[in-house]
Formats: sequence, structure tokens, C-alpha cells
Amino acid sequence: MTVMLTESERARVLAKSALFDPPLARLPDGRRELVGLSRDELTAELLAIGEKPFRAKQLWHWIYHQGVTDFGLMSTVSKPLQEKLATQFVIGRPGIAIAQESTDGTRKWLFRFRDGQEAETVYIPDRSEDRGAVCISSQVGCTLSCRFCHTGTQKLVRNLGAAEIVGQFMAARDAYSEWPSPQGETPRLLSTIVLMGMGEPLYNYENVAKAMRIVMDNEGIALSRRRITLSTSGVVPLMDQCGQELGVNLAISLHAVRDELRDELVPLNRKYPIAELIAACRRYPGASNARRITFEYVMLKDINDSEAEAHELVRLIAGIPAKVNLIPFNPWPGSSYEPSSGNQLARFARIVQDAGFASPIRAPRGRDILAACGQLRTESKRTKSAA
Ligand code: SAH
Ligand code: SF4
Repeated sequence: MTVMLTESERARVLAKSALFDPPLARLPDGRRELVGLSRDELTAELLAIGEKPFRAKQLWHWIYHQGVTDFGLMSTVSKPLQEKLATQFVIGRPGIAIAQESTDGTRKWLFRFRDGQEAETVYIPDRSEDRGAVCISSQVGCTLSCRFCHTGTQKLVRNLGAAEIVGQFMAARDAYSEWPSPQGETPRLLSTIVLMGMGEPLYNYENVAKAMRIVMDNEGIALSRRRITLSTSGVVPLMDQCGQELGVNLAISLHAVRDELRDELVPLNRKYPIAELIAACRRYPGASNARRITFEYVMLKDINDSEAEAHELVRLIAGIPAKVNLIPFNPWPGSSYEPSSGNQLARFARIVQDAGFASPIRAPRGRDILAACGQLRTESKRTKSAA
């Protein structure tokens, strides 16, 4: 019975998401975007213009391994074919509307897509090593309205398409000239992806999944699923599918341990309450001590940061291979919460650690350019034509 309910709920979520899908990825002159197509779709496009299937493999390599955007640079492709491809297709990137750099090295881009809608992407370099995380947006705005989150004050405008999701990563790569894609264990500057930008990735599951399959493909960007973390506020019906199909790391925006408070902070809790969320975590495929589930917990002064709540948290997640990321609240213009004191953070962290869970306190990065967790927001608004 539960399984059937979950199944129909999942179908309902996917159908609703599709209503917010982006316009077709093509230019006004009819040329089609190749970035964001699956391998099969790329093959079909080439067959449709009379080319052989092996060309798909060649193009895939140029697009995702070499990172070229110009057909003229594809030296394994004859000149006439380069020209033919250029009349039919483009290899695009989202346009950069604004690029900013924080005093701590964090970079933020405001990307503008073909229809003028905008979303933000953040690169967070690791201070000690030559690597870093790219924080990618999955939607323009968000349907959910978590009380402490800046993105939550912006209505959902639309989903980002696979091209726009992969495109954020590729454009960030361009900025660091990290092409061709480093292979295997070769160090990379852009070494991990966190789906923690604007939007709820599981409310745009199909496009996110397609984009992640492209990013994980071994003959291209070749990022291991272990280097990808998807953060959700708790869209329970899609969590199993995400684990089975993508096998990426999971982060849960928990933020409260009682339904009454979580209903208020993360309103999605009214639909999928804590017990259901934790049950879905317990069965998340691939979770192990080597691959823990991350529980994110934003520390709000006098709201959710008591020692009693720390004890309750530990009870709730007992037995799950997990770590708890304590996030100091990042203020934004108009926000009504205050960050917990350093002492309170430390007390909370100690209780969680004593129970055997790693409990790092996440250092805020890029606050000066509003690039820290929960600070992203754009001016994009829904127009009548979009859903
Ligand atoms: N929608 C997804 C992905 C966004 S991830 C989700 O909610 O999980 C961004 C993370 O930052 C989430 O854990 C979110 O709850 C948290 N966050 C939101 N606003 C914040 C703020 N002002 N300060 C600190 N963390 C915040
Ligand atoms: Fe949306 Fe996540 Fe912000 Fe909640 S925390 S409003 S789910 S982006």
C-alpha cells in the first residue's frame, strides 16, 4: 500500500515538474543546442542530417572532453562537415550577466539564459588544496518557501533544462580554462558538484538526472557520482529513484527535529513529515560509512539550536550512516532570523559528535557577495507564457 501511494505520488510530482520545463534549446534561426542532449539524442540528431552514428562519439569527445564551442576546432572532422554542423547546431554556454569574486576567493556568476531568465552559480575553492566545489542551480526561483532562505522569496519561474544545468558547470570550467577534462585521478580545480544552488533539484528531477548523467559520462567530463551531492528539502517520493538511478550523494535540509517547527521553517514538511523523510534516508541506496548522508542544519538563534534539540537530532538519525553539517545562518536583506552564537554552535556540535556523528560547522563562504548558502536570488519573474 505504502509503495503504491509513493508510486502515484511520484508520478504526480514528475507531471507537475514538467509544467515548468524550459523552452526548447534552440536559437531563433532554428539551430539546435547540442549541449544537454543524451548520447542517444545526439546520435538521433546526427542521423537526421544523414551522418553516421560514430559521429556522436566524436562530437561528445569534442564537446565534453575538449570543451570546444566552435565546430571549426574539431580537427577530426572534415571541413565540409564542420560547416554543415555549424549550419544546424550550436554548442552554447549560458551568458554571463555578472561575475563577482569574494575576498575569500569564492566566485559567483549570474547566468542569463536564452529566454532572458537568470540563475546563480557559485565556485567555492578549497583553501588548502587545488580543488573546489561548484554549487549549481536547478531552477529559477523555488516553489518552496523555507522561511530562512533568500531563494524562497522568489517564486518559481521555471525549471532549468539539462543544457542549462550542465552549462553552468561548463561555463565555470571555461573561467578556469580547465579543458580538456582531467581524467581519472588527475587533480581538478572544479572537482565536485553540489546541487545546492537555487531551486529544489527533486522538483526538477528529469532535467537534473539527464544533466548528471552527462557530467558522469566517462568519455567526457567524467565526474564520479561520489563527487556529486544533491541537496533536497525532502521530496520523499523522488528520493528512492534518485538513489537507484543516479547513486549520487544525498544531503537533506533537515533544520528542525520536531514536525511543528519544521512545518514552519520548511513548509514542505507538511506534505512529507520528518518520520517519512528519515525512513526514506534509511533506505537510500548506497548509503554506507564510506558514503554518508549529510544532514544540513541551519543554526538559528533561539529557534532550533538548543541542546535538547541536539539530543533529539541524534536520536532521530541513530543508525543512519550520516554526518551533520551545521550551517551558521547567512543573513540576507529582509531576513528575520539571527545566527546562533559561536558557543551555542560548539555546544550543539559537541553533542552530535559525542554520539558518533561527524559534525563540521560549515564556514560561511562568499558572504560579501551574497554567495553563501541560502543567499542566492535573481530578479527573474514568471511571465504569462511560462506555465
Ligand atoms: N532546495 C534544496 C537545495 C538548496 S541547498 C534544499 O533546500 O536542500 C541550500 C542549503 O542552504 C539548504 O540546506 C538550505 O536549507 C540552506 N539555507 C537556505 N537559506 C540559508 C541561510 N540563509 N543560511 C544558511 N543556510 C541556508
Ligand atoms: Fe527552496 Fe531549498 Fe531555499 Fe527551501 S531552502 S526555499 S527548498 S532553495
